[in-house]
Amino acid sequence: MLSPSQADQLYRTFASCSVKAPQYAEWCLKCENCTITRYTSGKTLFQGSDAEVYAAAFMEPDTSIHAHAGSDEVGTGDYFGPVCVCAVFADDAGIALIHKLGVHDSKQIKDEDIRKAAPVLMEQLPHSLLIVPCAKYNQVHERSNLNAIKALLHNQAYVNLRKKTALPKLIVIDQFTPEKSYYRYISSEKEIVRGIHFETKAEDKYPAVGAASVIARYAFLKYMEEMDARYGMHFPFGASGTVDQAGIAFAEKYGKDRLGEVAKLHFKNTEKIMERL
Ligand code: MN
Repeated sequence: MLSPSQADQLYRTFASCSVKAPQYAEWCLKCENCTITRYTSGKTLFQGSDAEVYAAAFMEPDTSIHAHAGSDEVGTGDYFGPVCVCAVFADDAGIALIHKLGVHDSKQIKDEDIRKAAPVLMEQLPHSLLIVPCAKYNQVHERSNLNAIKALLHNQAYVNLRKKTALPKLIVIDQFTPEKSYYRYISSEKEIVRGIHFETKAEDKYPAVGAASVIARYAFLKYMEEMDARYGMHFPFGASGTVDQAGIAFAEKYGKDRLGEVAKLHFKNTEKIMERL
């Protein structure tokens, strides 16, 4: 992953953190929240809670990837708020922009950095963004499972993107279901985008997937802010106990029948909220 010259640069940067190298290792650096070990095999291992942060800074961009499209979704693990799916097209200039902005998986980028990067990406890159509010989501979920919904949304995002720009040969979806199931879920759609490459953890490998992830996250953040303002309360992310508390507060203020306006009702949180009303 790291070339010898990148490894040298890495070592020089953190030389003051150097500790005794373990067996089969050239050197070992004990940095704050991250231990980096360079093995004689040429492999470099980043370990610890900040491993991703250190690794990303020294990761060589994969120059074998050229024009491609990628998509990702956000909000499917959050009880409150919409599901946002984005598909992005990036040619070489787009890829360079994505690298320059330091964009990769939105789960590893701070919200404030997402707020800075996303508007630039949206202005510069052809993309399609779909936002599914809870009311609509709950309606669809009565008939389809979550993966089927995701498949329909990714397909629709590519159908929309194709209207803005010709799709390249390489189209990547951050994989959430096997390829066969994906096409089965969308089999009755009017338009189907085919020839898609499915790969897990694609956000870090394919710049367009990373960019799609960041734009989708940005849309999600903005939507949640609007929800906070509209209902005059704070809707937390995720699906924890804090979320249950907010659900109870919402139901007490607006009535339990309106929970479907702001929440994905099939989550276990709904039961917990109803029990405590
Ligand atoms: Mn994903």
